Amino acid sequence: MVEVFTGSFTQQEPIPDEGIAAALAVLRHGRLHRYNLAPGEAGEVALLEEEFAALTGARYCLAVASGGYAMATALRAVGIGPGDRVLSNAFTLAPVPGAIASVGAVPVFVGVTRDLTIDLDDLAAKAGAARVLLLSHMRGHICDMDRLMAICDGAGVTVIEDCAHTMGASWRGVPSGRHGLIGCYSTQTYKHVNSGEGGFLVTDDAEVAARAVLLSGSYMLYDRHRAAPPPEAFEGLRLDVPNISGRMDNLRAAILRPQLARLPEQCDRWNARYRAVETGLRGTPGLTVIERPEAEGFVGSSIQFLLEDWGPEAVAEVVARCKARGVELKWFGAEAPQGYTSAYRHWRYAAPAPLPETDRVLAGLLDMRLPLTFSLEDCALIARIVRAEAGAVWQGRAAAE
Ligand SMILES: *Cc1c(COP(=O)(O)O)cnc(C)c1O
Repeated sequence: MVEVFTGSFTQQEPIPDEGIAAALAVLRHGRLHRYNLAPGEAGEVALLEEEFAALTGARYCLAVASGGYAMATALRAVGIGPGDRVLSNAFTLAPVPGAIASVGAVPVFVGVTRDLTIDLDDLAAKAGAARVLLLSHMRGHICDMDRLMAICDGAGVTVIEDCAHTMGASWRGVPSGRHGLIGCYSTQTYKHVNSGEGGFLVTDDAEVAARAVLLSGSYMLYDRHRAAPPPEAFEGLRLDVPNISGRMDNLRAAILRPQLARLPEQCDRWNARYRAVETGLRGTPGLTVIERPEAEGFVGSSIQFLLEDWGPEAVAEVVARCKARGVELKWFGAEAPQGYTSAYRHWRYAAPAPLPETDRVLAGLLDMRLPLTFSLEDCALIARIVRAEAGAVWQGRAAAE
């Protein structure tokens, strides 16, 4: 009997009951706007910011409308504007170069290694080309952050971290997003907490935090924040920083607060699923599992593997055969962008320079989401299917040679 997987790769878990109850309370009182508060009320957004600051150990936190907005705001807050060049990962998703383009700046792409992290030699070579790096911890792979910070500090490059896939992760025990000047996170449905849309920005820098709060659309109500610097920090800025609305609302914050409280437990559940798939894939001929460094505390909400140098026809065949058995693999080497998946060479507005080694890695790179609605048995089944189909294509190639 041929096994088929019938689960959905895009189905997340429901919002916890506590979140639903808190959301209903907000709907009943009707004060959805973050600054619409009853006397003595802190508001769900301000409380959420305080809780996220505590979770990451950051001095300041701002909740915003999306992860993309958090990144654009971070860039603006450090003074990036039209014509400036910003270093970023060639291996990431479209909102990252999009955030750079949204402020009129120009991405300079840095290559990816076969560990799926930023190529630090390429970064060192390009560090003089820009004063900011928007570092994407794409698919949760964290590079050697000690070396990255040494390179950037040495070259005077400010680091902004895109932690869309690393909320709850760490490097040598330091939470992801806390190495650079600013950490940005997403609370969009496919990330580690789910409010449909949303994001955070964290920093220890009072001026950056004050600028970000003003940028996000605080009018003169910044004293209603609980995880922002004191009013004095806004005095010299409030008439100079434009209001570019992108606030979070109390409804989303109400949904998120109970999810943040159980994030560590959810991360453990993701990692159990990740290890189940990884174990099932290990040893498949021609298939490279990505080894995770000891220092990396990752969150396995997705898994990647390489079919290195298999050639586009063979990889496309593996994707098609897995799909026929219900396993959805995303391929970063496809000719055309598809769904959420695209590669740096597709971002024509950024006029990307070719990166041959990156192209070689992406040509064999397959990716799979692991939503928490999958059981451990589902994960073992998924791995069996990939193993069987990749194995069949591999043997077919060997026989043809
Ligand atoms: C989802 C995502 C973001 C931010 O996304 P929003 O949809 O704007 O919240 C940023 N970077 C990466 C790599 C992402 O996948």
